[in-house]
Amino acid sequence: MPSIAIHWFRRDLRLHDNTALALATQNCEQVIGLFILDPTLLDNPKTCPARVGFMYSSLAELASSLADRGGRLIIRRGKPVEELRKVFRETGANRLYFNRDYTTFARKRDERVESELTKDGIEVVTCKDLVIFEKEEILNGSQAPYRIYGSYKRRWLIEVGRNLPPEQRLRTGSLKIENNDLKKLKSLDMPRIPGDFERTYFMPAGEKTGLKRLEEWAQTKTAKPKKEPDILDYAASRDLPAQDGTSQLSVWLRFGVVSPRQCYRVALDAREQAGHKDEREGCDTWVSEFIWRDFFYQLTWNFPFVATESFQPKFRKLAWETNNKLFKAWCEGQTGFPIVDAGMRQLNSIYWMHNRVRMITAGFLAKDLLLDWRLGERYFWEKLVDYDQPANNGNWQWAASTGADSQPYFQIFNPTAQGKKFDPTGDYVRRWVPELAKVPAKYIHSPEKMPAEIQKELGLVIGKDYPLPIVNHTEAQERTLQAYRAASRG
Ligand SMILES: Cc1cc2nc3c(=O)[nH]c(=O)nc-3n(C[C@H](O)[C@H](O)[C@H](O)COP(=O)(O)OP(=O)(O)OC[C@H]3O[C@@H](n4cnc5c(N)ncnc54)[C@H](O)[C@@H]3O)c2cc1C
Repeated sequence: MPSIAIHWFRRDLRLHDNTALALATQNCEQVIGLFILDPTLLDNPKTCPARVGFMYSSLAELASSLADRGGRLIIRRGKPVEELRKVFRETGANRLYFNRDYTTFARKRDERVESELTKDGIEVVTCKDLVIFEKEEILNGSQAPYRIYGSYKRRWLIEVGRNLPPEQRLRTGSLKIENNDLKKLKSLDMPRIPGDFERTYFMPAGEKTGLKRLEEWAQTKTAKPKKEPDILDYAASRDLPAQDGTSQLSVWLRFGVVSPRQCYRVALDAREQAGHKDEREGCDTWVSEFIWRDFFYQLTWNFPFVATESFQPKFRKLAWETNNKLFKAWCEGQTGFPIVDAGMRQLNSIYWMHNRVRMITAGFLAKDLLLDWRLGERYFWEKLVDYDQPANNGNWQWAASTGADSQPYFQIFNPTAQGKKFDPTGDYVRRWVPELAKVPAKYIHSPEKMPAEIQKELGLVIGKDYPLPIVNHTEAQERTLQAYRAASRG
């Protein structure tokens, strides 16, 4: 009997270096691509249109790349088990390949798929692909999962030297569909891209663009004229939001349009070619940030309760405030703290926010407003184009000091000082808070201190055209420390 495989695309919307897809093409005579639009995710009003738009655009490119090789991407809509069963019946396929995912939702879904299809006599093959190290692959000396990032990173760097697989190659012959019945398989039309995405989002989607971006970021293949900051500058430029000094690859990684192994390999190549120690430091720092991704994935897998609970039990009873007015001001970028407002407005406009400002806005919600970090986590979930549950949850718990290896609770960012440090000229604030565009650098991070005559000259009244600070940072800090201390005492 010929072996016909279905490759179920999920968070691996690419042909290159795709572990399960490559294995399917090597082991089976015929491989058909399938994508299932899951209404549980797509009909959720919280699902961000930019994320859906990016996914549809990447899917469209994937479908056309498969078609170029004589293959097909079948698109169906419905519950995964039911849709998979239908496709297996229609195709006579006997093997299912997919790359593993690690969130609680994905875990339950995939366990059910595996058990139901195995009962039907289908051979199910799953692969690691979304991360470099998964599950319990990296354990400490006591054979327990790491909770401290620094030790995890040291182990990760040792293991990656021994265990990074080579680039996974497709046997493209098996993608080509000769059989007429298979050629006629029913598929939904490519879904319409939400208008919002095209209008507001600044990154084009798809595998070709993702690879080009990765190459330009790491400068390995193209000798491009040096204009934008890249991996070699990362150590110095990554914390300055006005400079766009980070790779902005997160959305491609989130949908698996670029492979994490490829990201790591280009960083290694760039490091080898780097001529200066600062450039090598740029590459090393980028890899360090990248390792946080695997760190949070393994936390989600090994401690699934973190999805809804603080990692540290002592903070589960912390007395968070309830204040919808303050939460709304934070969401809308109307807090009167310019760096916070610029970040939230960047998020609301382009569905992406610079990492340093994510840290500042998250710290502000948890520590200045003393609002439950889960409110902010949920808002980011609704808005971020690169929303990735383990990374979002892990970072929110880091900022709120409730996580496995988080900022100590007594470290509270002063948003004004953070603004001055990381946006010294105020260019980032001016870009996203246009009403402050003409404010002199001296007052850009504390416009409430601007003398009345300057406000008059600028035609800008603080308190009317731009809000006064919604909290007093010094008082907020004191109240927050008391709340955390009380929770620590139990
Ligand atoms: C409160 C908060 C929420 C966040 N939510 C998300 C999220 O939902 N999805 C997401 O991908 N990242 C999240 N991050 C991490 C980080 O902000 C983004 O990964 C980064 O800003 C993406 O931009 P970049 O691709 O230019 O990153 P670069 O600086 O170029 O880093 C390269 C890649 O490494 C990974 N990475 C870098 N920093 C981190 C980190 N701290 N944690 C995990 N992975 C990291 C990302 O995949 C990123 O694309 C969050 C950070 C904070 C503080």
